[in-house]
Amino acid sequence: MTTNPRYEVLFEPVQIGPVTAPNRFYQVPHASGMTEANPRVRAAFRGTKAEGGWGVVSTGAVSTHPSSDDSPLPFARLWDDNDIRSHALACDAIHEHGALAAVELWHGGAAVMNRTSRIAPYSPSGIPWMATHVGFMGNQRPRTMSAEDIRQVLNWQAQAARRAHSAGYDIVYVYAGMGYLGYEFLLEEYNHRTDAYGGSVENRVRFVKELLEISKEAVGEDCAVALRISLEELRAKPSDNYASQAHEVVSLMSDIPDLWDVKMDSSPTDCGASRFRAEAAHEPVIDFVKQVTDRPVVGVGRFTSPDTMVSQIKRGVLDLIGGARPSIADPFLPNKIREGREDDIRECIGCNICISSWHDGVPVRCTQNATAGEEWRRGWHPEHFTPTSSSAALLVVGGGPAGLEAALIAARQGFSVTLAERGTELGGRLLFETSLPGLSTWGRVRDYRLQALQQMPNVNLYLDSELSAKDILELEHQHIAIATGARWTRMLYSSLEIPVGHLNVPGVYTPDDLAAGMLPQGPTLVYDFDNYYLGGVIAEHLATLGREVSYATPAGHASAWTIMTNEQPFVHQALHQHGVKVHTLQLLKSFHNGEAEMANIFTGDTSQYACQSIVIVGHRSPRDELYQQLQSSSGDFEAMGIHSVKVIGDAHAPGALVHAVHSGHSFARSLEQDSDTLYLRDIPVTDFPPGHAAT
Ligand code: ADP
Ligand code: SF4
Repeated sequence: MTTNPRYEVLFEPVQIGPVTAPNRFYQVPHASGMTEANPRVRAAFRGTKAEGGWGVVSTGAVSTHPSSDDSPLPFARLWDDNDIRSHALACDAIHEHGALAAVELWHGGAAVMNRTSRIAPYSPSGIPWMATHVGFMGNQRPRTMSAEDIRQVLNWQAQAARRAHSAGYDIVYVYAGMGYLGYEFLLEEYNHRTDAYGGSVENRVRFVKELLEISKEAVGEDCAVALRISLEELRAKPSDNYASQAHEVVSLMSDIPDLWDVKMDSSPTDCGASRFRAEAAHEPVIDFVKQVTDRPVVGVGRFTSPDTMVSQIKRGVLDLIGGARPSIADPFLPNKIREGREDDIRECIGCNICISSWHDGVPVRCTQNATAGEEWRRGWHPEHFTPTSSSAALLVVGGGPAGLEAALIAARQGFSVTLAERGTELGGRLLFETSLPGLSTWGRVRDYRLQALQQMPNVNLYLDSELSAKDILELEHQHIAIATGARWTRMLYSSLEIPVGHLNVPGVYTPDDLAAGMLPQGPTLVYDFDNYYLGGVIAEHLATLGREVSYATPAGHASAWTIMTNEQPFVHQALHQHGVKVHTLQLLKSFHNGEAEMANIFTGDTSQYACQSIVIVGHRSPRDELYQQLQSSSGDFEAMGIHSVKVIGDAHAPGALVHAVHSGHSFARSLEQDSDTLYLRDIPVTDFPPGHAAT
């Protein structure tokens, strides 16, 4: 197939200083949780994106010195020459496919806590960055940088840039975004200096300008220098001679960087979840940059639609289409557009599980793309599958995310696949959940898989087909996957986190009841100790139906775990806007006569809430009866010609969508494989013995 002429503009090369990007697809720097501890995992992850057509592939933040130490969060380093080899592996993997490699050199300033290096954090004026996430909080305030400190930071940037150049990077970044050191110099709230680095905007940009100049000197003639900068707050600030301080800052440095990489100021606004932010949401902040500089501009916006990308180019908003999440969900997005296969794009759903992985301190995980981070250690390629020589057939029971992924990945290997779903539509839990406020984009998990399965000749999809254990055995498939999901329970817990039985009284509902079409009557209390999105979304949903809704949780925030996915501030805003009263630190004890008794989880103080109904969003248990029946129905599967019977997804261990998809994928990849190696363990690569390998 050929490129749609409308999209050809996306495949034009773009000059970035002394180097040329082969097309406009630019994987901007994004955290991957991969460091020098797992260099092969990192190289394969980044290299796969180059293979998929991204013209530029960048690292995540790479610290220039131990005074920029984000531990225990994972971060990469170019602290001494021993770090070069592992970066070179990634550069080689990227270059192998004709892409440019970019490195985001980074000094975290007051926004890092230097927990391992124990160096007092650096800052322009001793003003701490305000952390709202417990993982980012520390109890040491930053020091005020002396003139000597400034010289040193510049010197570390130069040394790291030289190492980056020798590792093979084509683009070296200066970072002035998201609360980190360069950004702190730009903002008058952080920068109270009275020397040449503080005061006027011209003085406040001096440090960033010097970082750019020293990086240019360090890398020489064949490597570009990019500036990554957050413009949200600056754009909101008036300036005497410009439309805003953002206009002033960009104008003052317009022709210094070879590339402008422009973004928002905080992770929740920069990497907004689809629940609360649409595609291309950054445009109102960054739309002016191209009018102020003639250097190329890259920006993001969870772009998955080629029409939106073309519109950004044609309207002069961006020169390069930045992608972080879209490149994780589908490393082959550019190639699919080039080949006229737009319908095959595995579009990012904007769930931000990838971001939660970084907060968790582990390599990136993706709901849509189970192969992200598994390219090297499990040998999973997102588009290539080892054809099976087996004639074994697979029966998948249940058409939710786990069943759909298992069926698709098995079919792509050439297995003959039958999927039976008891409902009249495929999608499992997604069918209900995507009808709730803000979650329609998540339907892409079903849509991508379904449209692929429907085109495959070796796949049969049966709806309205509830199978019993007897039916399954009579169908005589060699592999059986039970993907029958999980059910929400009415279980409650004590303040010691011990289950105390089920609240089986009239007026108490679970999300499954709502999915089945029941509607709680009267004033309703949503009691949430699942802590992810669903409790908050159900409260919002019932409020939009006109119910009087309260939301209670034993946690300290509504949808407490969504701090990991950047959604929490917006969950609270949404509940507030819908008039939902939020009660935190509350344990549900009992419910009778229209009164819920709650107790403060710490003090035990009780209070009564008047409500007619309660929705408990708490514990889920596997719906695995079918699997248990199969296990007990016959010990002699071998004699029946059955090679394997497995339970997958929520029926195995209830989790988020990301777990169900990964489970389905993992199951299908291991069909007819008898290796018991779970995955390869990566180890660091170095040239020198431990210590400081000086340049
Ligand atoms: P997961 O997230 O693990 O994919 P879901 O709950 O989303 O789980 O999907 C499970 C699917 O299995 C649902 O669509 C449900 O209707 C289906 N299902 C459950 N029991 C049976 C059965 N006995 N036969 C066929 N389909 C079933
Ligand atoms: Fe997109 Fe979710 Fe994958 Fe992140 S985890 S890339 S937000 S689909």
